[in-house]
Amino acid sequence: MATVNAHYGKLQAGYLFPEIAKRTREFTAANPDAQVMRLGIGNTTEALSPAIIDGLHTGVDKLANVDTYTGYGDEQGFGELRSAIAKRYESYGVTLADDEIFVSDGAKSDSANIQSIFGVDNVVAVQDPAYPVYVDSNVIGARTGEGVEGQYQGLVYMNCTEENGFFPALPEGKVDLIYLCSPNNPTGAVATIHQLKEFVDYALEHKAVIIFDAAYAAFISDPRLPRSIYEVEGAKDCAIEINSFSKEAGFTGVRLGWTVVPQSLVVEDSEPGQVNKLWLRRQCTMFNGASNVVQYGGLAVMSEQGQKECQELVSYYMANAKLILEALEGMGITCFGGVNAPYVWLKTPNGLSSWEFFDKLLNETHVVGTPGSGFGPSGEGYFRLSAFGHKEDIEKAVKSIQDNLTL
Ligand SMILES: *Cc1c(COP(=O)(O)O)cnc(C)c1O
Repeated sequence: MATVNAHYGKLQAGYLFPEIAKRTREFTAANPDAQVMRLGIGNTTEALSPAIIDGLHTGVDKLANVDTYTGYGDEQGFGELRSAIAKRYESYGVTLADDEIFVSDGAKSDSANIQSIFGVDNVVAVQDPAYPVYVDSNVIGARTGEGVEGQYQGLVYMNCTEENGFFPALPEGKVDLIYLCSPNNPTGAVATIHQLKEFVDYALEHKAVIIFDAAYAAFISDPRLPRSIYEVEGAKDCAIEINSFSKEAGFTGVRLGWTVVPQSLVVEDSEPGQVNKLWLRRQCTMFNGASNVVQYGGLAVMSEQGQKECQELVSYYMANAKLILEALEGMGITCFGGVNAPYVWLKTPNGLSSWEFFDKLLNETHVVGTPGSGFGPSGEGYFRLSAFGHKEDIEKAVKSIQDNLTL
């Protein structure tokens, strides 16, 4: 008799986005004339830019010709694309070899799968609030107990609060796997070199591994802020970095990302290179490589013209973030993020809970956002607004908030 992986049963059933959809549906049913404006989900909306479209076309055209046709490729991705990614790190002052870079179909799958190369007994620490994949993949991977009142037993929650600027203090005890995301989804906070260095030093001391999600690195405009954890000395011995083409190039539906596993990374009883080989083994066993068409698109993203166009796209979304931020602050609402990250993280006014504010915002202004409590217990009392909309839609939403939100 077959049984299922019982750890799935512990998951707190994908509550956040279905609940947002349900409440929005109920609102539209009761108010058929209201035009609902969605600043909830972090999904890109602008069209792909010309150089990138050209790159994708190149990929398609190559498949149309028997002389340039390719089938399965290297599971790690095109050599040329890995070199282009390594070049980007060079611009940060970081040297990586091509075999330390693994191209994939996105950062979500990599951030979910990376835990599978680590022992089941590892103690896992996550930022709270956090992008849900880090927690859920470790629940499925049997590294937690049951969920009790929104927290999984055995998981170490590193609180990110207004007091600590939404970057956590070091874990008190010894932990083995540490997930960090900067610029952060959902809080929009960006870690400084100094903050990352504390974690790197901790990881080196305890032979822990940091899994660093840099999916929003391209949104950093302040030159003092690190775009990669490898800008911190020693990080190549203890950190894995995950990144994505989704947010910087609008590849949310196209699908392309990468993970860096340095050769010098070691864990408790491993030799240098062993963890890198494990991830290679995992990818070769469970993954057959990213789409060749899409990798041509990725090459175009990394080209000089592609980078120029991506910067324009990022600036477009960041102008939206500025609109949201300035409007809310102008109303006396306390806001965080929105400067080097495309999310505004606001403190709900008058001590409302995240869901109470969700209902109020929807009812009064017809704007949908994301309750902070959906990202973890420390998100309670906060609310996320996404800047990934069309400018006109963001302007309408902002005006409606200014005109209709009662405080
Ligand atoms: C959007 C997002 C990702 C997803 O990346 P994909 O490459 O689209 O899978 C990863 N991490 C964070 C924090 C994100 O917000």
